[in-house]
Amino acid sequence: MNVQDQPNVNGRAVAAPQWRCAGLMARLGPRFGTELPPAALPNLRWVARSDGLATQLGLTDWLNTPDALALLGGNALPPIGSPRASVYSGHQFGQWAGQLGDGRALLLGEIDTPAGAQELQLKGAGLTPYSRMGDGRAVLRSSIREFLCSEAMAALGIPTTRALAIVGSTAPVRRELMETAAVVSRVAPSFIRFGHFEHFAHTASDSQALQALVDAVVEQFYPDCQHAPNPALALLEAVSRRTAVLLADWQAVGFCHGVMNTDNMSILGLTIDYGPFGFLDAFDPSHICNHSDHQGRYAFSRQPNVAFWNLHALAQGLQPLVTAANCGGGDPIDALKAAMEPYKSVFAETLQARLRAKLGLTVDHADDADLFDDLLRLMAQDRTDYTITMRLLSRFSCAEGAENAALQDQFIDVAKFTAWAARYAQRLRWEASVDADRAARMDRANPKFVLRNHLAESAIRSAQAGDFSELDRLHKVLAAPYDEQPDAPAAYAALPPDWAHQLEVSCSS
Ligand code: AMP
Ligand code: MG
Repeated sequence: MNVQDQPNVNGRAVAAPQWRCAGLMARLGPRFGTELPPAALPNLRWVARSDGLATQLGLTDWLNTPDALALLGGNALPPIGSPRASVYSGHQFGQWAGQLGDGRALLLGEIDTPAGAQELQLKGAGLTPYSRMGDGRAVLRSSIREFLCSEAMAALGIPTTRALAIVGSTAPVRRELMETAAVVSRVAPSFIRFGHFEHFAHTASDSQALQALVDAVVEQFYPDCQHAPNPALALLEAVSRRTAVLLADWQAVGFCHGVMNTDNMSILGLTIDYGPFGFLDAFDPSHICNHSDHQGRYAFSRQPNVAFWNLHALAQGLQPLVTAANCGGGDPIDALKAAMEPYKSVFAETLQARLRAKLGLTVDHADDADLFDDLLRLMAQDRTDYTITMRLLSRFSCAEGAENAALQDQFIDVAKFTAWAARYAQRLRWEASVDADRAARMDRANPKFVLRNHLAESAIRSAQAGDFSELDRLHKVLAAPYDEQPDAPAAYAALPPDWAHQLEVSCSS
């Protein structure tokens, strides 16, 4: 069945997705993947929908139609084009893993939207030639985690793939326990990963395909690189810069990705592939959110270095396109290294800027880095809650003799906190900071609400029992993470309950 161009709601025609004849993947051709339809699922029903994203895409009415349910559940085909799974390779946990590919994701195609051209992808839509040992499915549990976190990250202002909806099914799926299948519809300008480049450099050894991929990505997403002496090198530099900004965003908000393999790194610098991610509760730089990451390779504080390591893997993937002749006559390896070099300064500068905003500082001062470091060290020592402490900082008064009791109560080492608070107060007075103005500004930098693991878990448990109201409530609150939202459940902004410490999140999804 093909979905109609003009579905109806109450007899009124609604705007359906405007499909493009050939998206980037389709233009690249068969070397880049395999065309195949999604595998249908029984008893489809809506689990969640993102009204915010639907509005941005101009699909609000359409998302209420049976056509949308069938399409986003994998039981119908788009009116033009063919769904396809793409092939990529990658490094997993530091080792070359060879060919991977979309094992359970299918690109439905590209649509024109008020927010520009977007790819629409189904995750969990059935087996593909790249499924390896997997079953091509995603379970309700992991789909809810991906949906909630994509939308929460977008609301935080952090680059990410988006999630339009979750469609649930009664089909059983075996993980550690028996669960049920779901399909997340993901939206992004492109789902191309570092691993796509690695694939054509190493697995397929096809430098023509590699060149075509670079040309297509540069033309559509990095037009400024088109006229560089070597577009592949210019692309590497541009991706290094975007990745640096992304990592600064993650570190500033306390987000731990969990599986930073090169196949989970977006060429657009988006957060992609939400698996065993976590937001920090107690501030612990060595926090490992992925229960399967025994070595702590992807621990919170290691993420910025891992991203740089991953950029080296991308550089190796681009190396076939960089020769002495086309990189200015120098050593190609030096040219690739130079292209990645801005990562370090952009990351450091962006993180400083994010921390400056979190502390409400508007003027640069040479001692600020020490002020940030000492606060974070103290928070790590006392394991204060990252989100709560930062939000309370917005209420800090820099008046002489002010007590700042609520903030102080977060710390065990009161003497050290008091000493730090005195420096901070003095620093604020130095730039004549006004408490109320600063508080309003800082509330835009220090979210009150993040997707803590236990909040996702509660929504999942209710949804597994057939009640989606908790998922809906949490999704709505996370859509405005910087707002006070006095009507939101107090638990959403509170310390995690004791049972939350037993939660373990692994790669199983
Ligand atoms: P991930 O760690 O979730 O990013 O997945 C790594 C690779 O395994 C990707 O190529 C996925 O497409 C694939 N994969 C993960 N889960 C499944 C599954 N249930 N069925 C098929 N492929 C899967
Ligand atoms: Mg992945």
